[in-house]
Amino acid sequence: MAQNIKDFSRLCIHTVTTKPWNLGLAASRYAAAGVSGITVWRQALDGYALNEARRIINNSGLRAVSLCRGGFFPAVNRKEREKAIEDNLDAIDAAAAIGAPLVILVCGSSPYQSLETSRGQILEGIIRILPYAEQCGIRMAIEPLHPMYADSRSAINTLKQANDMCDKIDSDYVGVAIDVYHLWWDDELEREIRRSGKNNKIFAFHVSDWLSPTQDMLNDRGLMGDGCIPIRRIRGWVEAAGFDGFHEVEIFSTKHWNRNQDEFLQDILKAYWENV
Ligand code: ZN
Repeated sequence: MAQNIKDFSRLCIHTVTTKPWNLGLAASRYAAAGVSGITVWRQALDGYALNEARRIINNSGLRAVSLCRGGFFPAVNRKEREKAIEDNLDAIDAAAAIGAPLVILVCGSSPYQSLETSRGQILEGIIRILPYAEQCGIRMAIEPLHPMYADSRSAINTLKQANDMCDKIDSDYVGVAIDVYHLWWDDELEREIRRSGKNNKIFAFHVSDWLSPTQDMLNDRGLMGDGCIPIRRIRGWVEAAGFDGFHEVEIFSTKHWNRNQDEFLQDILKAYWENV
């Protein structure tokens, strides 16, 4: 009974959160649990024809929120950068094919060149793929990543840098993804969220928690409420800035992947309800 009064109409889960489940299983279990949206990890499409993936999502009744991920533009040599462009065009195609209106960009970085050079290549890359994204009706969200990933995953590490890049690109199709895991520590976060909102640039909002101590840089994110991020406060800023989209649970966690995923899903619903 208590379950029925809980509102999960804005709850989306990223399929990587329940990585042991394939797309079909994830979609059916999320839908059965009352979850409303699904973000599809690109690797989760491996082994599926794109029209089959679309049918699975449609039949589940879930809303396809985004495809994760495109990006990884920077590289020291041109050939690799061109390969990245091709890969991003494929990601846009995949998003369109499965009915996801948004591609999340994990922008990339290279330890063999300066962060400024990497940022220049990110800007160049997004501008290159933008006409195709517009043509396909697919929006793209620049997701700033925590600075611990500045060497090889993203040279965009603050919301300010992401907002600055959106200003330079100046397209309705390019905005930001605000992930509390990456941004909670930033003392300019509230101000930059207001700035994103004023420009209608908040395309996505991701939640998980920062465990202390964190055991693994990639795969030790926590359930909401298990760490030290003031999630509800940040959600308040994002919504005060005008965002009314999905709250997307994105938990990369070896510990949780090793659990019974049905039990984990129930814990996600509880953690979402109590702490987001
Ligand atoms: Zn995220």
